[in-house]
Amino acid sequence: MPIKDGKRYCINHPNARMNRTGTLKALANVEGNAMEGTISPNSGLVVMPFVCEECGYLEMYVADKTQQDKTQQDKK
Ligand SMILES: [Zn+2]
Repeated sequence: MPIKDGKRYCINHPNARMNRTGTLKALANVEGNAMEGTISPNSGLVVMPFVCEECGYLEMYVADKTQQDKTQQDKK
């Protein structure tokens, strides 16, 4: 999603801001290939999704690369 002046906008709606989801999410790793792989819940990326309220378009950033608050670090 384009970031203008620190604000995130939908690629379909250049004037619509994208809203953060309430919590961080996880993209779990897959061990193996696309056909036979299994989801590995102990590894992956912590991500911060953003959603366009107009069209539902969803994009995400890796959470630890952003300047957002780190309030979710208590889960181990
Ligand atoms: Zn949109």
